Amino acid sequence: MVMLTGTVVNYYTHCKRQCWLFCHKLNLEDNSEDVRVGRVLHELKRKDKDEVALDGIKLDKLTEEYVTEIKKSDADIAAAIAQLEYYLIILHDKGIVRKGRLECLEKNKQSKSIHTIVLTEEEMAERKERYQRIEEFLNADVPPIPELKPMCKKCAYYEYCFI
Ligand code: SF4
Repeated sequence: MVMLTGTVVNYYTHCKRQCWLFCHKLNLEDNSEDVRVGRVLHELKRKDKDEVALDGIKLDKLTEEYVTEIKKSDADIAAAIAQLEYYLIILHDKGIVRKGRLECLEKNKQSKSIHTIVLTEEEMAERKERYQRIEEFLNADVPPIPELKPMCKKCAYYEYCFI
């Protein structure tokens, strides 16, 4: 049984096949440049000591008003938002009600884009149904077949999927 995390929700939104492969321990991501850059950013954040780990979720930053998630690019904003929504809902269910703040750093630029997320009760219920569907999907014995998309060229699973 795969345990849902913010990263899993992110991957599911990005590519269902990638999500399944990752959760079933087919981890080919070590060589990916994007993942390497992400890891370095993660280490830098740890040094800032803003990171908060709570019950299986790791938040980049938690303040009185916001849960902040920091991404190195806005290449897949929908996936990043889905991940942050997951954190908001987990916290909400623990009685910690916050808004989401997604900060996307631009590669090789000084600027960053900022997105604020506020979920209604209805939206949270809808997301929870989606989380159930993700868990069911991950319990399948085989992954969905690969479908070539522009983003596949940058994916660590590209060779596994298409070569
Ligand atoms: S190569 Fe494409 S289809 Fe395969 S896991 Fe990556 S994004 Fe998904």
